[in-house]
Amino acid sequence: MNVLFASSEAVPFAKTGGLADVSGSLPVALRQHDVETCLFLPAYRCVYQAGQPIERTGLYFDIPIGSKLVTGHLLRSQLPGSDVPVYLVEQPQYFDRDGLYNEHGRDYNDNCERYVFFCRAVVEAIRLLDLPVDVVHANDWQTGLIPALLETEYHVADRYRSLTTLFTIHNMAYQGQFWHWDMLLTGLDWKYFNWQQMECHGKLNLLKTGIAFSHTISTVSPRYALEIQHEPLGCGLGGVLRERREVLKGIINGIDDQAWNPATDPHLFANYDVQSWQSGKSTNKTQLQQQFGLEVRPDLPLIGSVGRLVGQKGWELILKLLPQWLRSQDAQWIVLGTGDPTLEQQLRLLAADYPQRLSVQFAFSDALAHRIEAASDMFLMPSQYEPCGLNQLYSLRYGSVPIVRETGGLADTITDLEQGSDTQPANGFSFPGWDVNQLHRTLERAVRVYREQPNTWRSLVETGMRQDWSWYASAGKYAQLYRHTVARRNQLQSSLS
Ligand code: ADP
Repeated sequence: MNVLFASSEAVPFAKTGGLADVSGSLPVALRQHDVETCLFLPAYRCVYQAGQPIERTGLYFDIPIGSKLVTGHLLRSQLPGSDVPVYLVEQPQYFDRDGLYNEHGRDYNDNCERYVFFCRAVVEAIRLLDLPVDVVHANDWQTGLIPALLETEYHVADRYRSLTTLFTIHNMAYQGQFWHWDMLLTGLDWKYFNWQQMECHGKLNLLKTGIAFSHTISTVSPRYALEIQHEPLGCGLGGVLRERREVLKGIINGIDDQAWNPATDPHLFANYDVQSWQSGKSTNKTQLQQQFGLEVRPDLPLIGSVGRLVGQKGWELILKLLPQWLRSQDAQWIVLGTGDPTLEQQLRLLAADYPQRLSVQFAFSDALAHRIEAASDMFLMPSQYEPCGLNQLYSLRYGSVPIVRETGGLADTITDLEQGSDTQPANGFSFPGWDVNQLHRTLERAVRVYREQPNTWRSLVETGMRQDWSWYASAGKYAQLYRHTVARRNQLQSSLS
């Protein structure tokens, strides 16, 4: 089985969020399930700083974009610690920029053109490189055009006829919506610009395009796969997904358990495992309290938060609660994130008022993210919605007890202390409602257990640390899905011939 994985980001080359973690890990993990993979990415400016050797293939190609031809070139690299080839689509005018999708909070205004070019380049590269491919696995709106190109244009060629497609949705909220004239950039016939395929409320919608044209669809947790079939989490496409529910599957993301292993993590002040977490955490906590300018107090519960500073992550609830909480509770908070300038400003003001209790860093720092997981006692993630979420899984592995809102992948991975069972032991705290009072009560409950019930706390920490969220099981499910997709396609083709 050969799978071409197309993504707009992947670690270590380019990252803005969880998609990069998935795209950097899954292609490697699939090898354990007899699936050969290669990965396609745009050659952004940052890929050259990833520390991976990159070679030129000398393969150039011309892509029609509207009425012009744009030349691109393929570079070749590898995913670290593996022989998974990475093909980087080089086109400096589109990709040699500071950001991936935006700069200074504003999307690039030629994003449609950039990713139409990328999608066409990926499809062309199959021929150019003579790649053996059974399944093209596209991810999110940036690659949503690939299934459409294969189905409407390339299927006439022998090379492409038997290809099948899987389209994975990592977040319904990002749909790649552009004004209708951008349809001309895609090169596809206007007849596809209809409400069942590429059009949505008068606009070109590339996420919908991927959903409509791919043979199989997946998303990154079983709960989210159900939630997105209805509004509001369907973000306007719930009906389209309901239509295709028979080919829609939810597979929870795994984590890279080499990169996220407290026993070997080079970013930590002290390494630890499930036997030594108490002393290990204590060292990491003390050091981080110092580094973040907080009072060094091993006895205080330290609550960590890492992630994009956007509404999705529950900041509206947190910021309603935080002033009162900082005033009244003897606890410390560390926040690492970048995003919405208004949220940054609110956090900055609060941190200035309570410098001993709240410390914030507005940066993207992998090292700090690791240190916060290791130092904190609890990790807060009260997301409004969460397709899968990776940080709660990192937290489990690092013994930082997750406090989450019960939605999407958070609901599938975190079991509240009061809801644990023999088959699904408790590993955190969760609350169902989008409600500041529920968040408040849950936080208080967590802090109370931390202070007053050390044995229960230890059991929560150790249960989480012992759970296996590595990619192995999830990659096995993807392998099964690829095989199923190919088998269905073969069946269909043989019934037609
Ligand atoms: P999302 O994909 O919605 O951003 P996830 O929890 O699935 O959320 O994944 C986010 C990933 O990005 C995690 O690996 C997290 O550690 C990382 N991340 C987000 N913001 C930062 C930051 N400011 N510094 C370091 N890592 C970050």
